Amino acid sequence: MWIDPKRCVGCANCVPVCPMGAIAVDPVARHAVVNEDECVECHTCYRGMSREHLPPAVVRAVRRTAQLFRFRFDPEPDVCPTGALTPRELTWPRSVRRAFSDPLVPHESTGVAGRGTEEVKTNDVTGRVLKGEAGFTVEFGRPGIGVRFRDIDRVTRALGAAGVTFEAENPVTSLMSDRTTGQIRDDILDEKILSAIVEVKTEMDRVSDVLRILQSVSGEVKTVICIGVSARCDARGDTELEDILNAEGFRSWRGKTNFGLGRPLFQEAV
Ligand code: SF4
Ligand code: SF4
Repeated sequence: MWIDPKRCVGCANCVPVCPMGAIAVDPVARHAVVNEDECVECHTCYRGMSREHLPPAVVRAVRRTAQLFRFRFDPEPDVCPTGALTPRELTWPRSVRRAFSDPLVPHESTGVAGRGTEEVKTNDVTGRVLKGEAGFTVEFGRPGIGVRFRDIDRVTRALGAAGVTFEAENPVTSLMSDRTTGQIRDDILDEKILSAIVEVKTEMDRVSDVLRILQSVSGEVKTVICIGVSARCDARGDTELEDILNAEGFRSWRGKTNFGLGRPLFQEAV
């Protein structure tokens, strides 16, 4: 995102809207600037604010005159009065920021908007996680902190070394230069995004190993990581996961349950 210094009147309305804290008003220049390195191109500022197109010179003059009389002329809080916020034409590799940060942009690799994956929510139909397997979602970043691909790469390479299988229909997997080792392509390692989900699966008896690897590598990354584990239920609706998670010292909650109402597009091994 770029803020046109000729149009910006420094009202600061856009500052709290940015989920990355990437906008600040320069008190000397009296206009807002975007920290390009921290901006994840989520377009929240551009999309979330109404834009008036008042003449900047007039708004500045009114604001200065108002100041003389010790009152303020401020636009409504959700308005950029001069339409100064200007989306840039993004080229690779910067365009990857928007793909992972703007929920209205579908991922090219999967066609799914948001973070680009249906995860295990559609497992009834897709069969991503089969009997005897455990699926992991490893979520990186959040508003306020984000994540760089360099940190995701650290974790995916640790997982790759443990022999997990990376989910093919996942946008992070599509950005790996090696889907066995989990290595992310070099040209995007410094790019920062709002958040991403890595999906892997392994055999049920490897769940403890994978949890330990994630716990160990999580201390090496500069962001937050949230882990979800999923498995197929047996006929009584139970899985082995609760016992494994408890044994590893994790409190677990059953977050989501699929009811098996979808028409499977896969063959279950017998
Ligand atoms: S809302 Fe518009 S005019 Fe106000 S500081 Fe932000 S970019 Fe500048
Ligand atoms: S595009 Fe997103 S991260 Fe960048 S300045 Fe706007 S709100 Fe902040």
